[in-house]
Amino acid sequence: MDFRSDNVTGAHPKIIEAIGRANAGQVGSYGADPWSERVEARLGEIFERPVQVFPVLTGSAANVVALSSFVPPWGAIYCHPEAHINVDECGAPELFTGGAKLVCVPGEHGKITPAGVEGKIHGEGFVHSVQPAAISITQASECGTLYTPDEVAALAACARAHKMALHMDGARFANALAALGCTPAEITWKAGVDVLSFGATKNGCLAAEAVVLFRPEKAEEMAFRRKRGGHLLSKMRLVSAQLEAYLANDLWLDNARHANAMAARLAEGLAAEGCQPIHPVQANELFVRIPKARAERLQAAGFKFYDWEALGKDAWRLVTAFDTRAADVEAFLKALRESAAA
Ligand SMILES: *Cc1c(COP(=O)(O)O)cnc(C)c1O
Repeated sequence: MDFRSDNVTGAHPKIIEAIGRANAGQVGSYGADPWSERVEARLGEIFERPVQVFPVLTGSAANVVALSSFVPPWGAIYCHPEAHINVDECGAPELFTGGAKLVCVPGEHGKITPAGVEGKIHGEGFVHSVQPAAISITQASECGTLYTPDEVAALAACARAHKMALHMDGARFANALAALGCTPAEITWKAGVDVLSFGATKNGCLAAEAVVLFRPEKAEEMAFRRKRGGHLLSKMRLVSAQLEAYLANDLWLDNARHANAMAARLAEGLAAEGCQPIHPVQANELFVRIPKARAERLQAAGFKFYDWEALGKDAWRLVTAFDTRAADVEAFLKALRESAAA
């Protein structure tokens, strides 16, 4: 009954079992192990091309390893004001790039557009200004919305026009992919993404994320940056084993499909009670208006979810996860219906 986030979960049992299996015996350290090799090969199959893969433990680490490999200290990174890199990483992107500037590009429902980015580019080639270096988009966005392949491609064209890289923060990449119905290649490198932070922790892993690089010429630098950032794990096999199990037999996509379906059911039940979404519900996050008195009755009944006052009066956020139970969703909707009469 906890809808606060998709990281209120533990790890999926198959991930824990995989760690247990990988635990036996002695293998090479620092990623020179069969699990890490297999994960890179498997992601190459999934993305339909060779990729370089850098497992790390947190999404913030993935983002800063990715961005710092493309952005000089005098660079500008264009992102949405609500981007995780802007509001939830404690200045780590600025620190690890050596001082690059995050330039916020407002946009509807958590998404930025090429026109929005163009409007924020000033002083190109001018020694007094930060220089365009990267666009960072979040898929699924912090507002639970999705970029289509065409939208990503348009942002990539904008990035190219200014010699910038395109980074995708895919903390919820599986949720986005499951909802979009396109291939992993179509929503990333085929649309012009240079580097992806491939999330896995929220969707079932214990602690495993990976930078997936589509620009092999950056691999050497990225290896050094990950090490300096403290995320070159000596017992890397225990991280890679999580990623291997996550990708095996479509566990990642099944988990994401389940979370998305739970969110869709919540959205449907909320709308039936007159509680309208603030952002379109496209993946596993819901931003919705519920009259405060009713929401508080739900919270008093034991349902946990956040007040999202940044979106104004009566705004709340609910997030579903790979282990959200359909019965809990129905219990929430039943309590919601009853809260009207109370
Ligand atoms: C959760 C999340 C991350 C990763 O957060 P960590 O706490 O550093 O693992 C990155 N980006 C987005 C959009 C997220 O929601």
